[in-house]
Amino acid sequence: MQQGTISVQTENIFPIIKKFLYSDHEIFLRELVSNAVDACQKVKTLSALGEISASTDQLKVSVSVNKDAKTITISDNGIGMTAEEVDKYINQIAFSGAEEFVSKYKDAQIIGHFGLGFYSAFMVSSKVEIITRSHRKDATAVHWECDGTTNYTLSHTEKTTPGTDIILHIAEDSEEFLDDYRIEGSLTKYCKFMPVSIQFGTKTNWEDDPSGEKDENDRIKKIEVQVENIINNPTPAWTKKPIDLKDEDYSNFYHELYPSTFDEPLFNIHINVDYPFNLTGILYFPKLKNNFEIQKNKVQLYCNQVFITDEVKNILPEFLTLLHGVVDSPDIPLNVSRSYLQEDANVKKISSHITKKVGDKLASMFNGDRPDFQEKWPDIGVFIQYGILTDEKFAEKAPSFTLYETSEGQFYTLEEFKEKIGTLQKDKKGETVVLYAQNKEEQHSFIDSARSKGYEVIILDGPLASHFINHIESKNQGIRFKRVDADVVDKLIEKDDALPNKLSEEQQNTIRPVLESIVDSKKYSIQFESLSADEAPFIVTQNEFMRRMKEQSAMGGGGFYGSLPDSYNLVANANHPLMEKLLEANDSSKEKAKQAIDLALLAKGLLKGEDLTKFIKRSFESIS
Ligand code: ADP
Repeated sequence: MQQGTISVQTENIFPIIKKFLYSDHEIFLRELVSNAVDACQKVKTLSALGEISASTDQLKVSVSVNKDAKTITISDNGIGMTAEEVDKYINQIAFSGAEEFVSKYKDAQIIGHFGLGFYSAFMVSSKVEIITRSHRKDATAVHWECDGTTNYTLSHTEKTTPGTDIILHIAEDSEEFLDDYRIEGSLTKYCKFMPVSIQFGTKTNWEDDPSGEKDENDRIKKIEVQVENIINNPTPAWTKKPIDLKDEDYSNFYHELYPSTFDEPLFNIHINVDYPFNLTGILYFPKLKNNFEIQKNKVQLYCNQVFITDEVKNILPEFLTLLHGVVDSPDIPLNVSRSYLQEDANVKKISSHITKKVGDKLASMFNGDRPDFQEKWPDIGVFIQYGILTDEKFAEKAPSFTLYETSEGQFYTLEEFKEKIGTLQKDKKGETVVLYAQNKEEQHSFIDSARSKGYEVIILDGPLASHFINHIESKNQGIRFKRVDADVVDKLIEKDDALPNKLSEEQQNTIRPVLESIVDSKKYSIQFESLSADEAPFIVTQNEFMRRMKEQSAMGGGGFYGSLPDSYNLVANANHPLMEKLLEANDSSKEKAKQAIDLALLAKGLLKGEDLTKFIKRSFESIS
């Protein structure tokens, strides 16, 4: 009985390849061009070893298309192959490679990039020819041809120069690949930084007329010159030594990577490791925009300058996907699916190494030039908070360079800040209360009253603030964060010495219904507090816990707390003279209370629409 395994020996190879590689046909160009590049690199290596004598400065790969013949040709002047080598590397190895591939991945869900080397040519070709001549002395040229069945022909042919031409006869259903833009697009994506020049067609350059003839503006005339169109930069910045690069080179390379971005990155990290694994790359810190989702997933992964993917989600730690740039390692496997890449042990090692490098860089920037680091903080703070929230290793390192900016523009680490606020911001339980504001403008009056008591207020205004605060509280015993408008200032940091309350229970019960007739009692719960007589008669606050829960569920898209209506406390200052007047409950005192409550709503940014219009009218009337 025969098991249901596909045997490459008995079936045509190319329907199988087509089926399995369906999602990413254009990868054939990467595979064939990188083979050609490898062949050129081998010339360099072997001539350096003295095994062959060849000039190495003209090594080049050319891609050309013939629309009439419906062929794409990839030519190189690399090492070439003898008949024996074609037999060994193409007929045997490649066939068995394809077979192994099919048996390994036939059940796997293949979503992305992987290569099958030379045989990926059959994804788009009905027939493939190789014309090759080895660099070795006395080699003769050979011609190999295969139409995607397991039959091939191998014969002698004429070729004057060493190197290889791969001629693809494009299949009917793949004719889109004969399009110049399509080819140039694929080459730019996959081959942009391969280490040997890659030429595709020509392009027009405007150059000075050699005759020196001038135009009406007395400038030397320009003439059109057709020059080779070179796709790639064979020596991208990340392959160079950091000491050989200036700031400008890093900036230029950034724009080479992202030609449609005009922003300048804030700074970069040049990774250059050769032990215990090989890893190079340049990571850039972009200026984060409000909507940083669109800036994510821009890091490009390379294996020896061959592009693998820019879909780094789940490959790099989440927070590192906010960075831009390039990571290159020969230890990142080229020929596998994305899901495999995520599980790969080397990829994991590389990821944690990058995390460490990023932490080290930030620490050294902080220690090396703190004023400069502080200046950058508004742009990198969110990134660091994101890292702390999503990566334990990073979170361990980060406290030493995580800054908190006060309302007065001072920067402190948490340790420094605790020292700064000392016992003043300890409550009666001995807990340190960190007061914060999320919006310096909107919460101004609350910041102001906290400042008037001598308290420090930090500004935490990023999109991650409430998640971040939860995290810091959970990692630091005895610290609590309270937003300045979470309560009246005396209760934010509760001390033993509360003022006596001038209003009895009964008196409070007289005033309460008056206030309830002024505000929507479903939205505002009324609360009496004994504050000093010169503080505001009313203050609107919002419970810290509820607000944080709502914020978090809003970020996570709803949830239980997200569905609750907004609710606030209307705090009445029991010691304010207005309360005594309200005990009389006449129209004049009620009017005053209405005005005072509107002012409290205004201070909290809650007075809007018709209520605001009426308030303004009333206020004008009162001064006219
Ligand atoms: P891989 O590149 O992973 O070894 P391939 O199937 O792409 O697998 O290629 C098989 C072999 O064929 C290569 O290792 C190389 O020896 C040879 N080869 C392929 N293309 C060329 C070329 N353009 N010039 C010289 N040798 C080549």
